[in-house]
Amino acid sequence: MSLSEILYKEIIIDHSANPRNFKKLENCDCSEDGHNPLCGDEIHLELKYDDGKISDIGLSGDGCSISRASASIMTESMLGLSKEEALQLFAQFKDMLVEGKDVKFAEEYEDIQALEGVRQYPVRIKCAILAWNTIAQALEKCEEMK
Ligand code: ZN
Repeated sequence: MSLSEILYKEIIIDHSANPRNFKKLENCDCSEDGHNPLCGDEIHLELKYDDGKISDIGLSGDGCSISRASASIMTESMLGLSKEEALQLFAQFKDMLVEGKDVKFAEEYEDIQALEGVRQYPVRIKCAILAWNTIAQALEKCEEMK
């Protein structure tokens, strides 16, 4: 394993063991559930949306380590973004993972890059993408409400 592969593995283990934004929100603007029947991963996302930005995210649910790590990384990356920015980041994530393109994320999104290795395991791609699909659906709901 190369040094970057080792570092990326550590990032995923850390997020999976200590998911960021793992909480329930008091008053959320919208929520969405996601389910990956192939693996049994379940996710519940709650969003707060202020001034056109995602101002808070509450993550709950359970699943395999890849789904947990990816959900945690997603919440950290999406906080503070507008809907358009969030969907653009999601598109880049899909390009990397599903299309197999060489996407280079900015330094502040280094943890997303750590999920690149998942594409070597096609059955796990659905685990990694679950949280991202779910927030995209939640954002559609938010937009309808505002
Ligand atoms: Zn899974």
